[in-house]
Amino acid sequence: MICKELTVSVLLNLACILNAVGYAGDVGIIHYKADLKLEVEHNSVYTRVCCTIQNDSPGELTQLTFDILARENRCKARTDVHKIYQKVSDSLVPLKFQHGGNSNMKLTNVTLASRLAPGATTEIVFEYTWQATEPTNVRDNYRPFATVSKGQKELCLLSDFAWLPVVKTNEEFGEMSMTNRFSKKIKPSWTIKVSAPTDFVVVALGGKHVQTTRQNGCIVSEWTSNVPFYPQLMAGRFAKRIVPSDSIKITIYLPEDYDHKLVQKIGKELAKTYDFFTEMFGPLKGDEIHIGVSSAGQGGHGGYLSFTMDTDMLGRQITEERIPMIMETMRHELAHSWWAWSVTSYGTGTKFLRESLANFSNAYFVEKVTGQDRLAAEMAKLFWMGLHAEVICGPESDSERAAYMKGHVVFNVLKMEMGQEQFFKVLKYFASEYQGGHVTMSDFINTCGQITGKDWKKFFDEWCFSAGVPDYRVEEFSSEQFGSMWETKVVIKNVGSAMITCPLELRMENDNERRNFRIEPGEIKTLTFFTLAEVKEVVIDPDHRTYQGSGRECRLKMLGVGKVDMEWIWYWRGVVLAEEGQYDRAIAEISRAKERHSHPAFSYSRGMAYLEKGDIEAARSDLIDFIDWVTSSNDPLRSLVYPGLLSQDRGKQQDQLNHILHAITGQDLTTQEQWRNWWKANREGFQPATGVKQIGPGGLRGRDTG
Ligand SMILES: [Zn+2]
Repeated sequence: MICKELTVSVLLNLACILNAVGYAGDVGIIHYKADLKLEVEHNSVYTRVCCTIQNDSPGELTQLTFDILARENRCKARTDVHKIYQKVSDSLVPLKFQHGGNSNMKLTNVTLASRLAPGATTEIVFEYTWQATEPTNVRDNYRPFATVSKGQKELCLLSDFAWLPVVKTNEEFGEMSMTNRFSKKIKPSWTIKVSAPTDFVVVALGGKHVQTTRQNGCIVSEWTSNVPFYPQLMAGRFAKRIVPSDSIKITIYLPEDYDHKLVQKIGKELAKTYDFFTEMFGPLKGDEIHIGVSSAGQGGHGGYLSFTMDTDMLGRQITEERIPMIMETMRHELAHSWWAWSVTSYGTGTKFLRESLANFSNAYFVEKVTGQDRLAAEMAKLFWMGLHAEVICGPESDSERAAYMKGHVVFNVLKMEMGQEQFFKVLKYFASEYQGGHVTMSDFINTCGQITGKDWKKFFDEWCFSAGVPDYRVEEFSSEQFGSMWETKVVIKNVGSAMITCPLELRMENDNERRNFRIEPGEIKTLTFFTLAEVKEVVIDPDHRTYQGSGRECRLKMLGVGKVDMEWIWYWRGVVLAEEGQYDRAIAEISRAKERHSHPAFSYSRGMAYLEKGDIEAARSDLIDFIDWVTSSNDPLRSLVYPGLLSQDRGKQQDQLNHILHAITGQDLTTQEQWRNWWKANREGFQPATGVKQIGPGGLRGRDTG
């Protein structure tokens, strides 16, 4: 990410180049015919590419600006543009161009030999070489041409940076959105020929393999696009593992030493996911999925029926236990074939329509196929961490954190408000109607309206564009007898800022009844019910499964989660059960989490639950483990934030930890050094203070909840 100040200086730098250029987002490349030659010994790639450029703008063009690996710093590369030609009546005319700016943004400004009229196309040929400047730098995770283990070379060209030329439009400069590679309305088709050493395997991710031949001591690998979109290219000494299935062929390119059987298993799991997504979102064009696994830590990047992963994600070895975790990432990336590549998006809401939908796709798969209560768990986590009121779509851009953490839970709310059938009808229609298209958030909102016959604008205003959370409170309630019936009046106020359908439980002597209600934010409603018995109590959201509430309710969401395979949820649920006085259940939940992996917070919280239950010996053992860890750890504060024992505020953490330690030891000490010395002298005869309650800044007992 380029900081703002820098962006401004870059823009000023470009102003002189740009003043003569005038075109908008409807000028772009519709086809690439590219030849690449890998010069492995120089860590460089020579490219000759013929670009077909289409002018859909109303104006005639005489100049164009291109991004050709313009962000040299980010790409860790240096680009030399050798020649640029335009095809004019079947001959190639050399063009005048300027390649400049600074190393953060080095654009290429080209003066055309023949004007490009509105509605017309022209062909421009570029010849350039880019060379990786830091192939052995392992600090960064973005090394397009990397020297990996044993001096082997690996090429990984992600679509994130313009390794094939991209037209820079005025709109992009106007919005200062240099990092927005998605503003193009035009998506290109392509053919790519790569010449590489004979021991290399080449894959143009998302494309179709045409042929590989041998020429002059090299291999030449040819690929063509399935559907128009930007390609990603990998080359190196990969093993090629093919996993066949009835519906799709999956090919995984990865280092040799991975267990063949487990790679096959991953492939089969992915084929199952593909079938599931196809059923939910409709079919895509193409019959192959390509996955490239980088050894240079490039992370996961989706593409059309393809994606990259890295060896960190797979682990040094793939093991049976790691497979569920690996599949989480793979399913997310595969979902991007629909949500990001088949239907691309731009502007506000882009991250919601890409990342939140990809996360929803994965979570829904887990619910349906493994029977886990995954989306309720995700919601509980959101409330636990206090992120339930985050704004997803900000005025400038989407919040990445909110799009990843909250967005899929919002899709689940939409599913419940709309009804399952209608909701999936919307997704399917949206995926097919805009297949190969380029959408905005309002296209999605309009589709919701079109399918359901209702206006959903308010829903998205509340849930995506503002910090909306419904918060229902019972203001008054009475139950009076009228003949053989009881009339119960419940006055409920929505003190929150969004609306959701919520259950209300009417509790009677021998019976409970549930009714749903929904109330606009800020409004009060009197609900009237007739029952055969007196209603003694009314409870809003009795199962804690509705996206609403504040204060204590935020933590109680943990109790509303059904079966999940997530040890942190087990731990947090244990903490809440202890707060509710259910010590045996609390201890069982935390013990289960502790069996999966050990964390000092687990020892602390279970120790406290034992203490409150009165099992001093068991408490002592757990709390000794905890204090042992605190006094020997290099940085005890950091590890206690995620569990919720310490707050995010670095300045308060030591005080909070002192407070926790004071409560269990009775000692008033301030530094880790003091705690270490005290513990050395007192560990042997340590007895935990009794009458202590579990505390922590995230905990109800550590703060005033009003
Ligand atoms: Zn993603």
